[in-house]
Amino acid sequence: MSDAAPPSRPAAAARTRPTIRARVVRIFDHADDTRSLFLAPTAAAMPRYLPGMFISIAIALGGETRVRPYTIASSPEDGTPFEICFNRVPGGAGAAWLFARALGDEIEFTGPFGAFALERAPAAETIFIAEGTAIAPIRPMVRRALAGAHRNAITLLYGADRAAHILYRAEFEQLATEHAQFHFVPSAGGPDADAAYVRLIDEARRRWVAGDADRSRHFYLCGVGPRVLELRDLLRGAGYERRAVHYEQW
Ligand SMILES: Cc1cc2nc3c(=O)[nH]c(=O)nc-3n(C[C@H](O)[C@H](O)[C@H](O)COP(=O)(O)OP(=O)(O)OC[C@H]3O[C@@H](n4cnc5c(N)ncnc54)[C@H](O)[C@@H]3O)c2cc1C
Repeated sequence: MSDAAPPSRPAAAARTRPTIRARVVRIFDHADDTRSLFLAPTAAAMPRYLPGMFISIAIALGGETRVRPYTIASSPEDGTPFEICFNRVPGGAGAAWLFARALGDEIEFTGPFGAFALERAPAAETIFIAEGTAIAPIRPMVRRALAGAHRNAITLLYGADRAAHILYRAEFEQLATEHAQFHFVPSAGGPDADAAYVRLIDEARRRWVAGDADRSRHFYLCGVGPRVLELRDLLRGAGYERRAVHYEQW
């Protein structure tokens, strides 16, 4: 969820948008529990969307159709197929359904939707912070920000419980060699994703709260559960403008 997109919004918006069918044309396993599907719409063209937006996928569960949001992890400029990236969730029926999709299977979705999006880089230093698969909206945002004319510093603070859960590492390392303004700060280790997020919060506090009195930075935060809100509140409470701290909680 984000400030402008409360939890009920995907379901409400889904009712007013046409359904799009897409075929699974490629499957890539990042780790034993983390996968990307590459999806090609079968008829309708993909509507225009911004980096960070998600699609609402119809998932058949126990005789009912449920809707789950999944972020487009590729960039609009990449065209189709587009990519979604997800991980197994303990007891998570939606994630298990996605893992059961095979090459050639078709899925249905509405969208793209979402207010946690970046059309162009803010005219200020920009910090992206994510854990695990919550890199999905951040990856196309970072690419879009680096494609812009601004030369303000851009930092990606990216954490996970283990190295295999730092996704797209080679791509971010390559971007850091190509763009002097881009700083890629991965950190892996610890018992679980929650501990990894606590480490991200501590690092953000050290660098951008205790580190100096500059409060002109913009932040884009994504992750699972209440730690995202803890980080949001830390930054806003430290004096960053409310509208400069963008976030999405899964
Ligand atoms: C705007 C938005 C975009 C999203 N984009 C993605 C995406 O790109 N990739 C993705 O994997 N998930 C994404 N999610 C989460 C996804 O929609 C599902 O909630 C997730 O796959 C679990 O669904 P489920 O039916 O398997 O489990 P449920 O039984 O519905 O379990 C939900 C529980 O799982 C937690 N949860 C949600 N996502 C994760 C996760 N990735 N890992 C561990 N726990 C999780 C929730 O906080 C909640 O407590 C997004 C959520 C939102 C709101």
